[in-house]
Amino acid sequence: MNAARKPLLAANWKMNKTPEEALAFWREFSGRISGETGRVEVVICPPYPALPALQGTDLRARGVYLGAQNVHWESRGAFTGEVSPGMLRAVGCSHVIVGHSERRAYFGESDEVVKRKLRAALEEGMTPILCVGETLEQRTAGRAEEVVAAQLTAALEGLDTGRAARVVVAYEPVWAIGTGRSAAARDAGEMAVAVRRRLRELAGPAAEEIRILYGGSVAPDNFARFLAEAEVDGGLVGTASLRPESFFALVASA
Ligand code: PGA
Repeated sequence: MNAARKPLLAANWKMNKTPEEALAFWREFSGRISGETGRVEVVICPPYPALPALQGTDLRARGVYLGAQNVHWESRGAFTGEVSPGMLRAVGCSHVIVGHSERRAYFGESDEVVKRKLRAALEEGMTPILCVGETLEQRTAGRAEEVVAAQLTAALEGLDTGRAARVVVAYEPVWAIGTGRSAAARDAGEMAVAVRRRLRELAGPAAEEIRILYGGSVAPDNFARFLAEAEVDGGLVGTASLRPESFFALVASA
């Protein structure tokens, strides 16, 4: 971590929790937090139907942000099943995850699509959490840095620096997601250094403001090791964010 950047911890609930379950989580989680949100930017990304329920709580007053897991790049129109940036704003979202590897792998999202989503989110004044990461095959072939650099370039090239500073990058090695097998902190730290280097090439001085998160089987017993890496500014958390006590443990340790 670097004192100049505020740590960020984002809960990616994926396709878990009804509105009622989201409220139950919030009741328990909010009972635990006190001063942490002044120090750490905490973001909860539930499935779409739970957004209005959480928006109706004291979540913002308690310093916690709402995020979405996906977004479409158009503002309206004939796009069955899609949700626009403005619609997310209307239900209280300030953050949105773009380019998660599950979207890339299961829903065919290309780098071009990820780029459009990222720009649409920025246009709407939101903070995009851009996910990048290599597969096991790519890592074994020694191509991890090259793959991640290409994903960063595709999404961020040509972005004006004012906007680039608002982007958050989540480095999530695909093989570490949901497997209980996190990356070695040292490898994640090295990749974060490579990401920062590429960000400097793409965004100039704005790169120093961009938070770089690690994601992939983050848990209370391994998170401190990632945060000890100089260029890691927080985490994007799936499984361990579903239980209030484990997500709180991560927030408290950041
Ligand atoms: P995980 O998911 O923490 O369950 O590995 C992380 C993610 O996909 O963002």
